[in-house]
Amino acid sequence: MNKGVRLSEKWFNRALWAVAIIFAWFLTGLGKSIIGDLPRVETDYTTEHFVNRVKIDPLRSELDTLSKQRQTLGDHLEQANLQLTTRQKDYQAARNTLENWLATRDVTKLETQDDELVHRTQTLDTLKARERNAEKAVESLRQKQTDIYQRETALQQQIGVLEAAARKQLDEAYQDKVIRVFMYRLLLTLPLLALAAWLFVKKRKSQYWPFVWGFILFAVMAFFVELVPYLPDYGGYVRYLVGIILTVVGGKYAITGLQQYLEEQKLAESQPEFLRREELKYDTALQRLSKNICPGCERPVDLKNEQNDFCMHCGLCLHNYCSGCNARKNAFAKFCHKCGTVA
Ligand SMILES: [Zn+2]
Ligand SMILES: [Zn+2]
Repeated sequence: MNKGVRLSEKWFNRALWAVAIIFAWFLTGLGKSIIGDLPRVETDYTTEHFVNRVKIDPLRSELDTLSKQRQTLGDHLEQANLQLTTRQKDYQAARNTLENWLATRDVTKLETQDDELVHRTQTLDTLKARERNAEKAVESLRQKQTDIYQRETALQQQIGVLEAAARKQLDEAYQDKVIRVFMYRLLLTLPLLALAAWLFVKKRKSQYWPFVWGFILFAVMAFFVELVPYLPDYGGYVRYLVGIILTVVGGKYAITGLQQYLEEQKLAESQPEFLRREELKYDTALQRLSKNICPGCERPVDLKNEQNDFCMHCGLCLHNYCSGCNARKNAFAKFCHKCGTVA
């Protein structure tokens, strides 16, 4: 990254940061789609995949047959009930007629009617017998119905046991699948993170830095954000462990960087003043001075005080005098601001 002080350069840098962010955004969108589509690699299992077919199929077909039988039986029972009601009514009607007839006979006292009494009583007996038959038919049908119910319950229990076993297997298969799917995602995102780390160390200052930073943002998002919805129960461990490792490595890198910087500063400050000034970049020096910081040792200096020509910390010359007009000028300026003489 170039930290220039020219106005256009500043705006170009901002635009390049926008490029980095847009690049990261598109990469993240692509990564999200790929990560989201990964489970399609796997088959979707149901209980039916694990149920013991050899055992459950005969049970199920028997249950089917029984259910059909039960329906037919229900129809028959309805018919039998209707018949029973009719026969009960027939008998009741015949009985009432007989009672009436007997009452009439008591009044008229006609002995010749005995034969008819016998005949009528026989008819009544026949009707009673038919009613009883209908009752028996209903009872027998009810008995069959009860048998079917009991058999159905027994079958359903057996099927339930087999299905429960299959469900257990399904759960296990599902757990395995979750782990596999997580592993696919991990295999996809972890190398991205490693590549991002490598790019950060080696390429973050290259002229293509917007793409490097875009990729780093994307990799971090993919691992720490996109992966979250797919984590299995122990996935948090993986996530935090990788986070800890990255932080430790990054922290170590920063500490080493600081040590190195301090060493370099020490070495630089021990060199002659004019050599140090040569090594400083023009834009960097101006930028630091504008922040009231010594360009050499990066410690704060009071530039408003006209007496301060040198840094009181490292002795670097901050202001000198023009060879042409003797005006006090910035020691890093390439030309005198008053007369334009080359410094
Ligand atoms: Zn200094
Ligand atoms: Zn001058």
